[in-house]
Amino acid sequence: MKTLSFLNDNKDSAWNIFITQVERVLPHLGELQYWANTLMRPKRALIVDIPLEMDDGSIKHFEGYRVQHNLSRGPGKGGVRYHPDVTLEEVMALSAWMTVKCAALNLPFGGAKGGIRVNPASLTTKELERLTRRYTSEIGLIIGPQQDIPAPDVGTNAQVMAWMMDTYSMNVGATTTGVVTGKPVHLGGSLGRVKATGRGVYVTGLRAAERLGIEIQNTRIGVQGFGNVGSVAAQLFASQGAKIIAVQDHSATLVNENGIDVDALIAWQQRNGEIRGFGAAGQLDSEAFWKLSYEIVIPAALEGQITAARAEQLSCQLILEGANGPTVPQADDILHERGITVLPDVICNAGGVTVSYFEWVQDFSSFYWSEEEIYQKLDAIILRAFDDVWKKSEQLGVPLRTAAYAIACERILSARVDRGIYP
Ligand code: NAD
Repeated sequence: MKTLSFLNDNKDSAWNIFITQVERVLPHLGELQYWANTLMRPKRALIVDIPLEMDDGSIKHFEGYRVQHNLSRGPGKGGVRYHPDVTLEEVMALSAWMTVKCAALNLPFGGAKGGIRVNPASLTTKELERLTRRYTSEIGLIIGPQQDIPAPDVGTNAQVMAWMMDTYSMNVGATTTGVVTGKPVHLGGSLGRVKATGRGVYVTGLRAAERLGIEIQNTRIGVQGFGNVGSVAAQLFASQGAKIIAVQDHSATLVNENGIDVDALIAWQQRNGEIRGFGAAGQLDSEAFWKLSYEIVIPAALEGQITAARAEQLSCQLILEGANGPTVPQADDILHERGITVLPDVICNAGGVTVSYFEWVQDFSSFYWSEEEIYQKLDAIILRAFDDVWKKSEQLGVPLRTAAYAIACERILSARVDRGIYP
């Protein structure tokens, strides 16, 4: 279904994947189904032009976006992506997944997301800073600690958040730490934020493995994407005796049936910016990643990676969605038929937004918690959400994704009904 006039008909586009996911939950929403159209279009989408003076004096223009998908349950929350393939449609989907994720975790936020179509690696640090500051000024119309709170995503990090916080603060005339999360700790960032998403994948993954009777010791794991999410999840699983037998990033696919030394690979990746060239593992072509035999696969790169064809081939028992939207709906069906459990993104990678929520709360009170307190609260919130979704899945007899959507959409649409339509 084409919910907005400018959208394309590609059923595997990120936005259409989201629409299909919503359609699948409709039969489980009872009378709230009547309001479901609310979810099928973003509340607000801003496209901005970012003119950038390059270091050589030339001017380049970049396209940026900020989309607020739904604000019924609170201010918008969601990351900012810097990647050459970013489109408005992709940002819309990512913002919608944030709406569902925040509601599934019962955090007091709506969903938002932003992005710039740029390869950040092609810019100098000064160019990246100017790009970020201009983008922040342009979207300053709609962001703010009570309106919409950006955070890091693919291609952005704590330094980018520091520039965003500073630019917003300069424009409003007061230091406003709560406008973004994922900041450096000395600027109002939260302890534990950097590892939060990977930790959430690990904590929920352990619980799912336990439910499925998968022993973590010596279990074979494949990780696609070795950035903030994938590397931390791999490290935590390896610390419990799992064997990370394959790792793929944009540059290479590495394999070692005895288990890759994750700490050494992280050190290599930090020195070189990619995993290519790491000596202690063999290299495969990228498609071979999906043909190895695993117990657990962790897609932690980009959306749309588990296609129907890959779902037919995948040999594993459990998929932990570290990335947002990595599995297309047709692949979901195939995996379900094949008895492969998919722990959906909206639960599995919600550790990041949960600690972002803690950061936002700490910024308001200017009182900061210890790392131990953060992890304890994180584990409690994410595991409660996991247990609720698992139970709902059994009650309704549906896959975990549909169960998570049932819980989340009920919360979002109930808020919609109670708030009513203005005017
Ligand atoms: P990142 O930029 O730190 O890392 C991305 C990784 O993906 C890199 O290793 C990169 O090489 C790899 N990659 C990019 N294109 C690839 C391709 N075509 N094939 C294989 N690998 C490829 O990003 P991140 O923060 O780790 O985010 C990864 C995913 O997790 C995204 O889907 C993001 O939306 C999601 N996510 C991130 C957070 C967070 O807190 N950072 C929270 C929730 C969800």
